[in-house]
Amino acid sequence: QTAESLYASKNPGSKAAHNVALESMPGGNTRSVLYNQPFPICIKRGQGNRLWDVDGHEYLDFMGEMTAGLYGHSNGTIREALISAFDQLGVNLGAHNLEEAKLASLLCSRFQSIEHIRFCNSGTEANLYALSVARKVTGKRKVIAFTGGYHGGVLGFAHGVSENTVDPGDWVLGSYNDQANLSSLFESHDDIAAVIVEAMQGAGGSIPGDLGFLQSIQSLSAKHRVIFILDEVMTSRLYPSGLQGKFGLHPDLTTLGKYMGGGLAFGAFGGRKELLQTYDPRQSSALPHSGTFNNSTLTMAAGYAGLSKVYTIQANLELNALGESLRTKLQTIAKGTKMVITGVGAVMTVHFLEHGRTPLRVEDLDHHSIPELKKLFWFWCIEMSYWIAERGMISLSLGTTMKDVDVFVKLVDDFIAEHR
Ligand code: PLP
Repeated sequence: QTAESLYASKNPGSKAAHNVALESMPGGNTRSVLYNQPFPICIKRGQGNRLWDVDGHEYLDFMGEMTAGLYGHSNGTIREALISAFDQLGVNLGAHNLEEAKLASLLCSRFQSIEHIRFCNSGTEANLYALSVARKVTGKRKVIAFTGGYHGGVLGFAHGVSENTVDPGDWVLGSYNDQANLSSLFESHDDIAAVIVEAMQGAGGSIPGDLGFLQSIQSLSAKHRVIFILDEVMTSRLYPSGLQGKFGLHPDLTTLGKYMGGGLAFGAFGGRKELLQTYDPRQSSALPHSGTFNNSTLTMAAGYAGLSKVYTIQANLELNALGESLRTKLQTIAKGTKMVITGVGAVMTVHFLEHGRTPLRVEDLDHHSIPELKKLFWFWCIEMSYWIAERGMISLSLGTTMKDVDVFVKLVDDFIAEHR
C-alpha cells in the first residue's frame, strides 16, 4: 500500500467533506496553501496544541497555522479577553475606542524602529499600505523584492511576478542573500521607491537572511533614499523585538501580522513618525486608510492580552529556545542525508535536497529538491499524528513541550532510517 492510498483509506470523512466543498468552491478550497493531493484532511476542532479531524484522528499541532497560531487553540487568556470585549465593549463600535491605542503603544515599545503604527486586517494589507507610504514620500513607483519572498496573496514572488501580483510592471526582483546582485540593482535603477524583504524568507522555505545582506539592504536604501520595508509578519515572533531586534536592523517601515491579533485577522504597519504622517488625517495631503475592521475591539483586546500576558518576553525566549533545540536535534540526525533543516527559533522547514546542503535562496530549492521524498515525509508525519505543513514547515506554538519535540525527533529518525 502506498503512503497516499493509506492516507486516502484512513480519511473517508475528510474525503466526503472535500466533496461537499467542491460543489461550491474551486478545488473545494479558499486557501491555496492548504490544498494537497489527494484531498486535504478536514480538521474539526483544536484545543491547546492538539487538533482533531472529522475522522476522529488526533494530531499534535506542529504547524501552528503557519506561525499565526502561536497561542495554541482557544488559549484561556485570549478567551477571557475576547469574552470580556464582546460582553463589555461590543464588537465593532464605528468609533475610536480605548483598546487601539493600548495595543499601538505596546507594539511601539517592543520595536525600536516603530514610532507610530496603524492597524489593518492582514499581512497582505499591511504591506500594500507600506508600499503606498513609500511611493507617496518618494514620488517613485518601483519596488525591489526578492524571488522566494512572500508578502501576501497578491505580493508573492515564489517564481517571480505573475498575473496574481499586484502592479506586475512595478517590480524589480533580486536574488535573496546575493550582495553583488543587490548592489547592481540599486546602481542600475533610479526609480525605486522601496525595497521589501523578510529577514527570514518564511513561505520561501524558512531561509534566514544573511546578516551582511540585510545590512547592505539597509545601507544601500539609506544611500539611495529608498524606503527600507522589513516584512516581519512572520518573523516578529522569533525574538521579543522581532528579527530586527535580534539582527540590529533599523528599517524605515515594518509590517506585522499573524499571531499579533491574538489569533484573529490582523495586520499593522509602522515606522518613523514622519513616514506614517502619510496617513495622518490632520494633514491635508494625507491618504485615506479606513478599513472597517482596523480597530475591531475583539482583535485589539485579544492582541493586547496575548502580547502583554501570554507571549511575554520570557515566553518568547523560551519558545524560540525550544525551537532551536528541535532544529539542532533534527540537523544532528539528518547529517549526511538528503534532509536539510533551515529556520530561526521556533519556525523551520524540513527540506529534501539532492546535495544535502543548506539552501541560501529559493533557487537552491527549485533546482535540487526531491518532491517525492518531501511528500512521503509529510504523509509520514500525518500518519504519526504530527500536523505539519505539506511544504515541510513547522512552527511551534506555546504549550509545546520538550517531550513533544523529542518524540518527533525519534519519529524523524525512524523515517531517515527507512529512506536513506
Ligand atoms: N508577509 C509574510 C512574510 C507572510 O508570511 C505572510 C503570510 O504568510 C504575509 C505577509 C501575508 O499575511 P496575510 O496572510 O495575513 O495576508
